[in-house]
Formats: sequence, structure tokens, C-alpha cells
Amino acid sequence: AMPPRQLSTTSGDYDLANPPEVRKFLGTYGLTPPAVENYEIQAQRCLRLLAMKTTPIEKFQYLVHLRATNVHLFYRLLSENVKELTPLIYTPTVGEACVRWHEIWTQPEGMYLSWHDRGNLRQILDNWPHEVEITVLTDGSRILGLGDLGVNGMGIPVGKLALYTACAGIRPDGTLPLTLDLGTNNKTLREDPLYMGSRMPKVTPEQEREFLDELMAALTDKWPSIVIQFEDFKNPFPALERYQNTYCMFNDDVQGTGAVIVGGFINAVKASGKPAKDHRAIFLGAGSAGVGVAKQIVEFFIKEGLTEDEARRKFWFVDSHGLVTLDRGDKLADHKVYFARDDNNGRQYQSLSRLIDFVQPTILMGLSTIGGAFNKDILQKMAKLNDRPIIFPLSNPSSKSECTFEEAVNNTEGRCLFASGSPFPSMEYGGKLLTPGQGNNMYVFPGIGLGAIISKTTSITQDMIYASAESLSTSLNKQEVADGWLYPDIRRIREVSVVVTRGVIRAAQKNGVDRAVELRGLNDDQLDVYIKERMYDPFTDGEKNLDEAGHLLATASG
Ligand code: NAP
Ligand code: MN
Repeated sequence: AMPPRQLSTTSGDYDLANPPEVRKFLGTYGLTPPAVENYEIQAQRCLRLLAMKTTPIEKFQYLVHLRATNVHLFYRLLSENVKELTPLIYTPTVGEACVRWHEIWTQPEGMYLSWHDRGNLRQILDNWPHEVEITVLTDGSRILGLGDLGVNGMGIPVGKLALYTACAGIRPDGTLPLTLDLGTNNKTLREDPLYMGSRMPKVTPEQEREFLDELMAALTDKWPSIVIQFEDFKNPFPALERYQNTYCMFNDDVQGTGAVIVGGFINAVKASGKPAKDHRAIFLGAGSAGVGVAKQIVEFFIKEGLTEDEARRKFWFVDSHGLVTLDRGDKLADHKVYFARDDNNGRQYQSLSRLIDFVQPTILMGLSTIGGAFNKDILQKMAKLNDRPIIFPLSNPSSKSECTFEEAVNNTEGRCLFASGSPFPSMEYGGKLLTPGQGNNMYVFPGIGLGAIISKTTSITQDMIYASAESLSTSLNKQEVADGWLYPDIRRIREVSVVVTRGVIRAAQKNGVDRAVELRGLNDDQLDVYIKERMYDPFTDGEKNLDEAGHLLATASG
């Protein structure tokens, strides 16, 4: 008798969809309950099991187990229930899972590379059993808003890559979750007997750079067209600057976030009925997020016909010391200088409300982490100044949002063009159902990754990032546009990802960084077909495995 054969899925052998002949062939006959079940029945059981778990963390654990035991079923479930399940496998639940990772860990997922492994990184990568197309890597130093969690941060690469698969159809075994174990400054964790990382303080930035230099070279040597996504680094900028022109890498916290906000912003500007030149923006918050977003909006304004200087001067930034001006008398952080006002208006700053009177903005953006900062007075002023005020309270989580959707709607007579960082429910106003936009990175990073994979780019250029934003803004269907939405329905994420992927590939081609040169001759329709064919589909790929088993069976018995 032939020994059991491994199918191309690592966890399909015990699939309840396998018919008796396949089970006999695999040597699993009798090892599963007798019923042969289609996916619908299996999915029903999963959803019931999920409903039985009472806490999000228990649901999270069940989903980890499901992925490990039946990968296609897991992704089927996730693709069909993106909206409901994403909060359980990614934010907010993944945050709690990371905090408690050392307590709830049950099985290996992904790779860990430690400071003492340096010099051997290339060799260790050989232990990974699959061909990798994309990796998400973190050093755990700033996991969401939760601070330094050391190797507990692994939940982030694992969760994010699950979204790459669900949203853009990147093969599950083409993904590598990677966590760097470079020490942690989280003393509580370091002293916890269950902690699973090195028990030393975080290495210095210079040592981390040395480690990353070796890692980037090792990853690219092992898998020459690998896409490397950085996530949740405390200071994301040094690595981004160092590697973005030489490796196929990007940082989603910086670049994906900027792109997704700009995607919705482009639609808000269109809906406002005013040309770019007539807009003025006040940003509450001048941190890396605020300035990063504004820089991408400058690009949009330039594409709309403004000069860079005209575009730059459309922004008034407020930080914890008031309006950001060159003559404020304190040393401005480097990233604030570009947008600092030199027209001496700082002395007129008494409050956000007074600044609004003075600037008469069309746009109010919140990246300040100050919950409720857009109060009734501020919102009503925006409504008085504008037909369609653009109001984006982007701080997370919802408790830090500068205002809620309800507050924005009620204080602007339902006229605001709204997007937030955290989710808010739809609401009725004046007999209409209004739905808030949510600047969720999930709209862009899957397409940036897939676009880079498919076009085999040597780097991820700023044009590719910008293209993801612009493509996202075009991905709404007629109904969504008619309903005044700024972002498409997240349940259509796989369709949206195709549009974003195409835009990213086109930008790569324009920049000449693509190595899949055979795709240059395809028109847009052909390219879309190509992208869709490349996407892993948990529905049909699960069945392909059945076919494969059937084929092996026929060959074996024939
Ligand atoms: P950050 O670096 O801490 O920046 C916060 C900024 O707000 C700083 O410029 C700070 O001023 C300013 N600020 C603090 N208190 C203020 C006050 N009372 N009045 C006016 N300004 C005040 O944080 P970040 O990384 O830029 O992120 C900011 C927020 O954006 C976070 O809540 C984050 O969750 C959110 N965010 C959302 C998305 C999304 O929607 N997808 C993406 C990224 C970030 P100083 O500079 O003077 O300290
Ligand atoms: Mn992040």
C-alpha cells in the first residue's frame, strides 16, 4: 500500500469534505466522523462554536485553532464574514491577545529571530518550510497603542497576514509572520516566567540597524522577490528611509495609513463641490500620523493643479503648544518644520475655535489623541462656514476620537463629509440613513502587497503608495457613491483590492521598478483578469485540493 500523501494544503487531510475514497487514499479513513460535509455545513458549525465562546479572546483562540486545522475553511469563513470576524482576528482583539500572548500561546506560527542569532539569519531562514511572497515584520516595540510588548507582538504579523490572504488572496503559505526578538523595555514582561522572548533590555537603535541590515539582505537572498512590510516599530522612520529605495519594502503605519486617509479625502473633496485651490485645512495634532497624512494630501493638491508651495500653505497645524509656526520660540521637531507657518499668525492663536474664525477652514482633521476636541461649538462653526464641511476625527480608539459620528452629524445638520479612524455606527438623520467612513488600512495594504508581489518590484515607490490611495477613491460602486459614502463597503474588499492592486502595478510600471515586464503589454481588463487568477480563493482552491486528491487516487489505482 502507498503511504499517505501530503496534499498541497498542510491541513486538508482531515477535511470533513473529503469523500470516503479520498480518506482511504490518505490513510485518514475512520479517523474522522463518517459524515461527508460540504463547506456550508462546516461553516455553520464554526459560527455556532464561535457564538458559544463568550469573550473575544476565546473567539480569537478558536479562530487560531481553526486556521491551524483547516486553512481553507478558516479563510472561507473570514472572506464571507470580513466585517464580523476582522475585529476578532485583528484590532481590537489582537491587542488583548498580544498583551496576553505569553499566557495564551498554544502553537508556533511564524518565525522569531533573536539578537544572538545575528550572523546566522540567512541560515535560519532555511528552516521556514514554504516559499515566501510576503512577510510582515515587527520588533514589538510599539504594538498598536499598547507600547513595547517584545515577542508578544507576534500577534500583529500573524493577524495582518491573515488579512492579506483574506482581502487580497495572497496564498496562506506564501506569508511569513516575523518577529524580531531584540529585547524589550517592558520590565513586567521580561520578569514574567511565562514570557517567551530574550530577557534583556531592548538593543540600541544602532544595534537594531545592524541587525536589520543583515535581515533585509538575508530575506532578499532567500526569496529574491519577497515583499517586506514593517509594522508597529516605535520609530518607523529610520528603517523606511534606509531601505525604501533598495528593498521591496514599505511601512503600513506610515504609508498605508496616509494612503487610506487620502483615498477617502479625495472623495470628500470631490463631494464638497469645491476645487482644491479653495480648500484650507486645520490639523489638530502634528505627530507623525498627522504630518504623514498631510504630505500625501499635498501630492493630491499638486495633481489637482496647485504648486507645491501653494499646496503646503493650505495647512495650519496645531500641536500641544498651539499653532505650529516658525517663530514660536521653541525648537520644532524636524517633521513639523515643513508645514510650520511663517506668516506670523502664531500670536493670534488662542484656541482652536478662534483659529477656525481666522483660517475659515473647509477641512478639519483630528490626529491629536484628544477625545472630544471637536466640540459642539467647533462643529457648528464648520457647518456655518461650509456647505459640506470635511471633518475627519482620526484618533483611535473611539474614546480618543475628536468627535463621534453622531456629534458631527447633529451639529452640521447632517451635511458633514465624515471619516474616522475608529468605527461608528450608521444613523438616521432627516429620514435618511447616513453611514460614516472609516479610514481602515485594510482598504490599501493588501493591494499594495499583492501589486508588489505580482509586478515583482525592486522597491515600493511613493507613486505606488499614492496610486493605492487614488485607486481606492475610484473603487466605489454606483450605489455607494449615490449614498454619499467616502469608502466602499468593506464586504467588497476583494473587489476593491483588485482595483488597488492594478493601480499599484501601473505605478510600478511607470516608475520602471517592475520585473514582471510581461505584464506591461496587458490592458486594464486583461490585467484585472490576471490579478484575479493570481488570487488565492479559499472556495475554489479548497476544491482543487479535492480534485488533486481524486487525481492522485486515479493514478494510484490505475
Ligand atoms: P502622536 O505622535 O502622539 O501625535 C499626537 C499629536 O497631537 C502631537 O503633535 C501632539 O502635540 C498633539 N496634541 C497632543 N495634545 C494636544 C492638545 N491638547 N491640543 C492639540 N494638539 C495636541 O501620535 P500619532 O502617531 O501622530 O497619532 C495620532 C492619532 O492618530 C492617534 O490617536 C492614532 O490612533 C491616530 N491614527 C489614526 C490612523 C487611522 O485613522 N488609520 C492612523 C494613524 C494614526 P505635540 O507634538 O506638541 O506633542
Ligand atoms: Mn500598526
